[in-house]
Amino acid sequence: MIRRPPRSTPLYSSAASDVYKRQMLFKQETLTNVATEIMTKAGAPRENARIVAEHLVIANLKGHDSHGVGMVPNYVKAMLDGLMKPAQSAQLIKDSGAVLSYDGDTGFGRIVGMQAMEEGVIRAKKHGISCVALGNAHHLGRIGIYAEYCADQGLVSSHYVNVVGHHPMVIPFGGRDPRFVTNPFCCAVPRPNGEHVVLDMATTTVAAGKVRVAYMKGVPVPPNSLVDKDGLETQDASVVFSKGGGGAMQPFGLHKGYGLMVICELLGGALGGNFSMQPGNPRKGATINNMLSILIDPSAIGNLQEFDEEVSAMIDYIYDSQPATGVEQVLIPGDPERTTAEQRSAEGIDIDDNSWEDIMNSARDAGLSQSDLDPLLS
Ligand code: NAD
Repeated sequence: MIRRPPRSTPLYSSAASDVYKRQMLFKQETLTNVATEIMTKAGAPRENARIVAEHLVIANLKGHDSHGVGMVPNYVKAMLDGLMKPAQSAQLIKDSGAVLSYDGDTGFGRIVGMQAMEEGVIRAKKHGISCVALGNAHHLGRIGIYAEYCADQGLVSSHYVNVVGHHPMVIPFGGRDPRFVTNPFCCAVPRPNGEHVVLDMATTTVAAGKVRVAYMKGVPVPPNSLVDKDGLETQDASVVFSKGGGGAMQPFGLHKGYGLMVICELLGGALGGNFSMQPGNPRKGATINNMLSILIDPSAIGNLQEFDEEVSAMIDYIYDSQPATGVEQVLIPGDPERTTAEQRSAEGIDIDDNSWEDIMNSARDAGLSQSDLDPLLS
């Protein structure tokens, strides 16, 4: 497993409020409590705020800061602007047994998404397969959580997701004008030892949140991630996140990654939610996800034990591949998140000072004072 050198930075202490502006390491529980309090104050039922906060912090824990507590300001703004309904449950609008259709009605993505997935699992266990369409959910966050839930119940699942509700940020392959957002795709294969194979990715070279994090930290993004206003490649995140930057993101993997992005738009958006990025649909400024999920019970196809053994044999064969020069070990999808979660559980979660400042500003927007926050941070 990949190991980072141990960190010497201490965990956060609330000795003085100017400490908020440093790069800091937080305990999982501290971040969860702060995020819960902010979203509750902004109008969410405490129980929902807690579930969503846990979801965000798990994303941080697994190394996906782009979908961690840095999303709190987005959620608070959506609540305060009336673009998200924090108490909303998923509404079942069509039920054909193995096929379910839900309207998320701009509820918290994590809440309505998991409600839809829970019923999807029940139906897949009954019929051997289920297909769950979820439209108009507010940001679902890290899609891996829905696939991991299915995998924990022994199901294979794949999830096609589009992102709408605001202006497009991603160019089509060979184009210059943006037409998409970051359309994530996710597929998980369960393993009895819990070390599921989880491919969970944006169909852009990097997730939009990672461009935001790079912008916040003032560091370059990886090559082939962005283009400037002239359609020329750049690693400067400000072309996307600063006002008037005029740049856009790129799909990963040339025409092939772009093709998967189109499929996510059409399956997640047009089929799953009847809500694609085409300009006839509303763009009120919220971050809306539509998701089409297909859940398969492997035991409905064949012998479960043989399937598990075949998966394990193949994974062992992959691990046995000699690493390339400079690479420590060949991994399978899901390994990096497991390793990072182990490290961050022990060492704490880094939050850069700009993101923290944004979170603190959203706390104030929600109506919390410094003295409300200090006890949570001690
Ligand atoms: P990423 O590039 O860090 O990882 C993508 C996948 O590659 C993961 O499954 C990971 O396990 C795997 N991986 C990474 N390194 C590997 C290696 N060396 N060997 C084998 N596998 C490896 O992820 P990303 O594209 O930046 O996406 C980050 C998160 O953003 C995801 O959780 C995604 O669901 C989320 N996202 C959400 C939305 C939304 O609108 N809700 C939009 C875009 C992305």
